[in-house]
Amino acid sequence: MKLAEYKTRLVIVNLLIYIITWFFVLFAVLQSTWYYSVTRLENDMLQTSTNLNIYIQEKTAHLQNDDARATYLFSNSTDIYNVVMNYSNCTLELFNYDGLLLVYDSNNQEPTYMTQEYATCIARNQPVMSIRNNNGVKQLWVMAPILTKTSAIIGFAGMINPLNEAENLQWFLFALISVCGLVGLLVVFLASAQFSDSFIKPIQTLTKISDEINKGDYNQIITYKKNDEIGELTRVYNEMTQNINTVFNQLKNERQSLGDILASLDDGVIALTREGTLLTSNRYIKTYFDIIDPKTIEDFSEYEFFQEIFNSLREGKANVSKEVLINGRNLLIIGSPIKTSGIEENYLIIIRNITNEKLLEEEQRKFISSVSHELRTPLTTIIGYTDMLNRRQINDQKLLSSSLNTINKEGHRLVRLVDDLLNAHSLQDMSFSFYMEELDLNELVTDVVRQMRVKSISKEIEIQYKAVNDIPMIEGDYDRLSQIFINIIHNAIKFSSKGGVIDVVLTVEDEYLSVSIRDYGIGIDPAKKDFIFSAFYRVDEDRARHEGEGGAGLGLYIVKQIVDKHNGKISVDSELEEGTNITVKLPFKKEQEEDNSEN
Ligand code: ADP
Repeated sequence: MKLAEYKTRLVIVNLLIYIITWFFVLFAVLQSTWYYSVTRLENDMLQTSTNLNIYIQEKTAHLQNDDARATYLFSNSTDIYNVVMNYSNCTLELFNYDGLLLVYDSNNQEPTYMTQEYATCIARNQPVMSIRNNNGVKQLWVMAPILTKTSAIIGFAGMINPLNEAENLQWFLFALISVCGLVGLLVVFLASAQFSDSFIKPIQTLTKISDEINKGDYNQIITYKKNDEIGELTRVYNEMTQNINTVFNQLKNERQSLGDILASLDDGVIALTREGTLLTSNRYIKTYFDIIDPKTIEDFSEYEFFQEIFNSLREGKANVSKEVLINGRNLLIIGSPIKTSGIEENYLIIIRNITNEKLLEEEQRKFISSVSHELRTPLTTIIGYTDMLNRRQINDQKLLSSSLNTINKEGHRLVRLVDDLLNAHSLQDMSFSFYMEELDLNELVTDVVRQMRVKSISKEIEIQYKAVNDIPMIEGDYDRLSQIFINIIHNAIKFSSKGGVIDVVLTVEDEYLSVSIRDYGIGIDPAKKDFIFSAFYRVDEDRARHEGEGGAGLGLYIVKQIVDKHNGKISVDSELEEGTNITVKLPFKKEQEEDNSEN
């Protein structure tokens, strides 16, 4: 039922109750007024009859018997009538014992014979009263016996009284009560409308606020100042909405932090019900599987392993895992049940990206196989030569000396390899610390170039070095930075032909000091140049090994590690048979920046 309907019903019920009450009151008032008026008149008339009896009894006291008394009444009826009329307000008529009309008010009215009343009165021997309609006028008729002292009836007194006064009073009261009733009706109407409003308004507010709450606004408060039932209801309601608000906010915060946790996880997460409906999932589901907003396990039908894991979990397996390769990523899928109070209810599937671990594993595998290979080659040579020297009687001094030479060279190669390995290993170790100091790169490169010139003399290679003026200082480890340029220039010498030139140039570029080492040697195939910084990579393995000078492919790998540790950059530019240009860039702090940071 709508509240407006409720209001109308309330008003109508109030009005009905009022009208019924009003009718009862009207009825009671009119009836009691009528009864009172009639009784009063009746009493008056009975009093008149009593007076009449007393008068006659006095007047006839001296007479012998009741017949004489009856005769007296008959003879003196007019006198008696006149005397009694002096004390009475009603119209009087006197009858003898046989009902014969003796006297009446001939001046004012027609005689009334009251035949019916006479018959009843004589039969009952007591006064009789009736209400008569005489020519449209209501009258009260009383017929009373005239009694002697011995209680013998000698005649009858008929008394008539008009009832118009009582009727008028009734009409007046009817009009008065009606007018008051109508005014009361209006008052009751307005009051009950107002009263029902005072009930309905808070209920309307409650309804409106419930609507708002339904839409998710839990900050609503109802204002109702009275301390009645509605006030109590609104108080409870306000408390309830506040509690809901608090609980809602708590839930929201918890949900938010759970969402944050899920979002910040580095793993993909799916939580599922036994029926396969998704409870939650995070952004990695899109990243790894390109599935947007999945709802059930069916949404993963493209990836069969999900269904397999889900089935295994439903069969009761505690932990299920599987490695898969999806879109170039190695993913480890781990499924486990989520148990609530020991009862298995939902399932959690975690998707971990193990691509990097796989790569690392692969690199380590390659590294170990490369190291074993690199160590094996010189060792095989050494063992081969020593076996040969052992087996044969060596008289040939020349063969002996060349064999020992080879053994020595391979021994040195082994030492170099072990040094390089140690170097590479120490650079990878996170705990390895650099001795960082402010240094002049120009001075450092000049030093290295001087050192390397000694080595290049045998190949008649000229190393030219140029540096711009005003070179800023940089932060770096002197020995490690020297190692960079030693390794690069060493390669440049190694891969240049006899009599060649190597250009070393130091310049300033933006926030970097740039050192480029350019040779005009054999160059590198551009398709392969990006691999030269990987461990154990050699562009041309056979040649490197045959040339004897070939390292294990760790030189530039070490260079790259040191450059990275100095937050620098390294790049290579090369063409086959045209030479190679390797550029190392090391950052320096700009004056302005220093000033700013000091501020
Ligand atoms: P290695 O210690 O064997 O010299 P590096 O890591 O220093 O190994 O170099 C890797 C490979 O890059 C070399 O084997 C060579 O093939 C190529 N390379 C490096 N520098 C040059 C260069 N200046 N000219 C031609 N090839 C080069």
